[in-house]
Amino acid sequence: MNVAAMSDPAHALTLRDVEVRFPGLERPALSAPALDLGSGEQVALTGPSGSGKTTFLNIVTGLERPGSGAVLWSGVDLARLSEGKRDHWRARHVGLVMQDFHLFPGLSALDNVLLPQRLFHFRLPPGAAGEAARLLNRVGIARHDQRIETLSRGQMQRVAVARALAAHPRIIVADEPTASLDDASGAAVSDLLLELAHEAAATLIVATHDPRLVARLGRTLRLESGLVKE
Ligand code: ADP
Ligand code: MG
Repeated sequence: MNVAAMSDPAHALTLRDVEVRFPGLERPALSAPALDLGSGEQVALTGPSGSGKTTFLNIVTGLERPGSGAVLWSGVDLARLSEGKRDHWRARHVGLVMQDFHLFPGLSALDNVLLPQRLFHFRLPPGAAGEAARLLNRVGIARHDQRIETLSRGQMQRVAVARALAAHPRIIVADEPTASLDDASGAAVSDLLLELAHEAAATLIVATHDPRLVARLGRTLRLESGLVKE
């Protein structure tokens, strides 16, 4: 366990004997006998298409439950929580960035950043709109009322990064966040993810094939046919 994990164990991850199987797939889609990530670690998750990267992210964010094993974030075992409790835990602790953005057309950039908090809270927490505006400025989006579908792809992903950070999560998870962007946009999104995760002292896990992004993350985990290797 690293120093950051010892000083702030609140967002450290432990996987034990995790196995995920899908019907029709002979081998486990994911097998993680023992893995520990410290709080505030920045980790790249690499491996060819179909090697289990998205499955890994779905398990550690509680979007899916493993067939067996423990998924512990600072002692909370997601594998033992109901779907509703996992959804609640994720809304409080995790910021997600997906390859294809998952933004809502028809809404402005600002409303996209605020949408997860609107869905989670009965009404927006005080300061949420101001913080969303600050984050949009931080990621270089000046027109907060611009409809999301009129932004470039690189701008859309920067809005998605702002949205992931908006509720001050201590865990940030990105699934191939630069894969559908050109080089310059991908580099800008990588910079922002790393900088903002660092500023928030968040634990960052990024599934990516992007060698420049991998090189900038502190640790690399490789998936080979579902098996997690250091
Ligand atoms: P990656 O993100 O590295 O491309 P995935 O985690 O998406 O890999 O998939 C890992 C393996 O599990 C693949 O063989 C994929 O076809 C299979 N798989 C993923 N989800 C399902 C599912 N819901 N049902 C059956 N097989 C699945
Ligand atoms: Mg994937």
